[in-house]
Amino acid sequence: MSDGDCLFCKIVAGDISADVVLETDSTVAFRDVNPKAPMHVLVIPKRHIATINDLSAGDEHLIGDLFLVAAKIADDEGFADDGYRVVMNCNAAAGQTVFHIHLHLLGGRSLGWPPG
Ligand code: 5GP
Ligand code: ZN
Repeated sequence: MSDGDCLFCKIVAGDISADVVLETDSTVAFRDVNPKAPMHVLVIPKRHIATINDLSAGDEHLIGDLFLVAAKIADDEGFADDGYRVVMNCNAAAGQTVFHIHLHLLGGRSLGWPPG
């Protein structure tokens, strides 16, 4: 399932290029075009899901896959011990601008809490 107007579906399809870090059967991880930290990777499901609100029963495994991929990349890039952050924004008040769910994986600098 994909949405023809969705930027991240176009990245999954290869119609828009991205700096892909890791691809699995269900996910693609690529570097954010406007990184907010030395490591800023977006981990997305290949299947189009607009927001967290659109998740359904049965998506548990897919969401788990996003976290497993993020943890693997953080480890591969040397941030597992020092620490890193994963965050997913939902809708406008949280700052979601691309409506295909994506886990932000951030590392390589001190990350303030709470986020703005
Ligand atoms: P959001 O604000 O929806 O949580 O995050 C969307 C993210 O996608 C932003 O951090 C933004 O920099 C990133 N982004 C937007 N367009 C592109 C693109 O075409 N390629 C890549 N690699 N990242 C993008
Ligand atoms: Zn999409």
